[in-house]
Amino acid sequence: MNQTYDAVIIGTGQAGLPLAKRLSDAGMTVAIVERHLFGGTCVNTGCVPTKAMVASAYAAHMARRGRDFGVVIDGHVRVDMKSIKARKDAIAEQSRLGVEKSRRSLARCDVYTGHARLRSVHEVVVNDQVLRADRIFINVGGRATVPSIPGIDGIPFLTNSSMMGLDAVPPHLVIVGGSYVGLEFGQMFRRFGSEVTIIEKATHLVHHEDLDISSTIEDFLAAEGIGLRLKATCVRLSGRAGAIVAHVDCEEGTQTIEGTHVLVAVGRQPNTDDLGLETGGVLLDERGHIVVNDRLETNVPGIWALGDCIGQGAFTHTSYNDFEIVAANLLDGDPRRVSDRFSTYALYIDPPLGRAGMTEAEVRQSGRKALIGSRAMKRVGRAVEKGETQGFMKVLVDGSTKRILGAAILGVGGDEAVHSLVDAMYGELPYTTVQHGVRIHPTVSELIPTMLGELAPAK
Ligand SMILES: Cc1cc2nc3c(=O)[nH]c(=O)nc-3n(C[C@H](O)[C@H](O)[C@H](O)COP(=O)(O)OP(=O)(O)OC[C@H]3O[C@@H](n4cnc5c(N)ncnc54)[C@H](O)[C@@H]3O)c2cc1C
Repeated sequence: MNQTYDAVIIGTGQAGLPLAKRLSDAGMTVAIVERHLFGGTCVNTGCVPTKAMVASAYAAHMARRGRDFGVVIDGHVRVDMKSIKARKDAIAEQSRLGVEKSRRSLARCDVYTGHARLRSVHEVVVNDQVLRADRIFINVGGRATVPSIPGIDGIPFLTNSSMMGLDAVPPHLVIVGGSYVGLEFGQMFRRFGSEVTIIEKATHLVHHEDLDISSTIEDFLAAEGIGLRLKATCVRLSGRAGAIVAHVDCEEGTQTIEGTHVLVAVGRQPNTDDLGLETGGVLLDERGHIVVNDRLETNVPGIWALGDCIGQGAFTHTSYNDFEIVAANLLDGDPRRVSDRFSTYALYIDPPLGRAGMTEAEVRQSGRKALIGSRAMKRVGRAVEKGETQGFMKVLVDGSTKRILGAAILGVGGDEAVHSLVDAMYGELPYTTVQHGVRIHPTVSELIPTMLGELAPAK
């Protein structure tokens, strides 16, 4: 059966969903295709469920720390993993059902279930149906990369998706990969009661961050009892369900790590390999990301790509911003661009890391005359009062223009507090404007002006 629409959207991720609504509200007929769960990664296996689980882990942690606050809990604190999973599932389900219901009830929008492939530059095939449109939007997201470690095919292994199904605490969770996903799961399961070992081949965890950030994180994760195996490459996996052995190539420590479960968290790859893109002549880069210009148009007129599948930010907020850029250009005559945004994200360990703009290493490499300021969370009243003083904040400023170049807040509330600097950066404000503003006491944010008042040349 053939159907013709003004637009076909492949994937119901964080760009496809709002785009369907905008296009339909603008009077276009729209088809949106989803092969699995509405809402994609964020809602089902990414941000939403993991942050719900991080909240359970934090509750367990604070319960164990009760004595620090004068709170007495008689008996042992332990988690009920089935209840944690049920809470997480309910939160994710509410979100998924909400977006699905609202899209299914949109005027002029048909929802198709199944795997979509291009048949030509204007045709998408789903099951036995051909959807024709002059505009095709690809928002297919990505999936966990399964590394080609010898032995991996012979053992049961976990990814961020299958982690969502755990309803018992693994006695010993071995995590291959010490970056964002690995650290969030690592700390969370340690707090649920697992023994956790993280294997990372680089010299430091989250090695894209500045060294002071990585080492502070290593210190507090190690203090929680997480085993860190840095400069260790997992070269082979063996064993069976419940008794997994990771064989590592390393200079220090043992060469085998025995665990009960293994999570692979070595990165993500775009879902672009089975989309028929070659039929339409849509260009991919060497990592399989769809090549787009600053307005998210592919090399084929009438085909756009948005979200994780383009490799220009792998976050919900970047995918949503991609939707805004496409809608602004297409419907509002507003020439918004991908290059209008800078990097912002958080790492949701506890305490969290809120990041904006350039790292200190990038600023130094750029060779500009820069100023730097920092402050330990031990010297932030709000952190002291809350009994959560791990971490520090730092900011980098251009010495000539006085503009803020980058910031990192690794500390309680860091994921929220960093936004005042994000706003100043988008507003292209001199740091002195932030420094002179009066802030609410007691907050973590109130010390940002103080830190800016103590800037010194970055030597
Ligand atoms: C463990 C984890 C935690 C994360 N935490 C955060 C966080 O805290 N904050 C944050 O900003 N980001 C986080 N992310 C990243 C975030 O989830 C993604 O960047 C976000 O979901 C945007 O993805 P997207 O819109 O590109 O596509 P996705 O959300 O991945 O959606 C793509 C959709 O397309 C569908 N699809 C794919 N191929 C086809 C096809 N051929 N036909 C039909 N349908 C198809 C898929 O089934 C999927 O539903 C996390 C990711 C992970 C893995």
